[in-house]
Amino acid sequence: MTNFDVIILGSGPAGMSALVWCHSLGLRGVLLERNAELGGQMLLMYHRILDYPGLPGLTGAEMRDQFVAHLNELQLDYRVGCLIEEANLQERRLLCDGDWLEADAIVIATGAGKRKLGIPGENRFSIQGGISYSATRDHSLYAGKRVCVIGGGDSAVENALILSRICPQVTLLHRSDQFRARPEWFAEAQATSNITILTHAEPRAIEGADRVERIVLEDVRTHDVKAIETEGVFIRVGIAPNTGLFRGQIEMDDAGYIKTDQRQQTSVGMIYAIGDVCRPPCSSMATAVGHGAIAAKEIALLRGGASSIP
Ligand code: NAP
Repeated sequence: MTNFDVIILGSGPAGMSALVWCHSLGLRGVLLERNAELGGQMLLMYHRILDYPGLPGLTGAEMRDQFVAHLNELQLDYRVGCLIEEANLQERRLLCDGDWLEADAIVIATGAGKRKLGIPGENRFSIQGGISYSATRDHSLYAGKRVCVIGGGDSAVENALILSRICPQVTLLHRSDQFRARPEWFAEAQATSNITILTHAEPRAIEGADRVERIVLEDVRTHDVKAIETEGVFIRVGIAPNTGLFRGQIEMDDAGYIKTDQRQQTSVGMIYAIGDVCRPPCSSMATAVGHGAIAAKEIALLRGGASSIP
């Protein structure tokens, strides 16, 4: 058993901020990241970020490097490739690589990831190729090919527009006719000659022999099933929180996001949730960094016997 003041799970901007703040408040913190690299969703931000104060114009990866340099400068304790096999939040114990870790407080900063469809063929072709979750990153692999984009929000419509510049045929598939995407992007997609918009189409399977060849769709009004020939499928159906490990132990909303109060305290004593995992009203790096500070400050006050942040 290894003991810490605070264990932080997840290394996006929320988790890294919490680690820095624990250090400056005199708490012995450790940050555990299941992936091989620190950064969380920062590593998926390919555009230049223009609205993070003081560090304008960096990509997500460059921003991550700045955060990690700060952790290294302070010689903070972080560990990558740490898979949590079991969590007991009531007892504030985590089983990681066969070793039980215990802390006075746990900060959950596991973030959110691209939502999966959970249909046959999705896992297989995600690994084998033919399915992508980001046109910004992967568009060049699909130049000259017929592709489908699934979803009706900003991400799907933006992806369809990106792909329409290099693909002869883009089909935007949505399960209803109500699009969440901003109207000007949607209007641009409607006006783009090589984008076809298909509504009331629920994806049922992605099929092919060695590569993606077709997507099977059900019309949600008639329940008719048909297949569309395609060489690539872009899945952009929103994001979902990484909270499976904690299900049943802590209060969550219907979508699985962890509920917190204004101090990032969850329904379990000395367990905090920060960043996208608790569905902030404004999902951004700035919000995540602020959450990290709030949680660390609250933990420091409670451990010192003080009342919580006024
Ligand atoms: P989103 O706005 O949550 O939209 C998700 C879409 O996927 C909805 O149309 C939804 O349909 C559909 N969907 C969800 N689950 C599905 C399923 N199982 N099967 C089929 N369709 C499914 O997600 P998003 O487009 O990824 O955007 C997320 C956030 O990022 C938004 O706030 C957006 O504005 C922002 N964003 C900003 C930019 C930018 O500013 N450059 C770019 C991209 C995204 P229903 O409507 O029927 O639920």
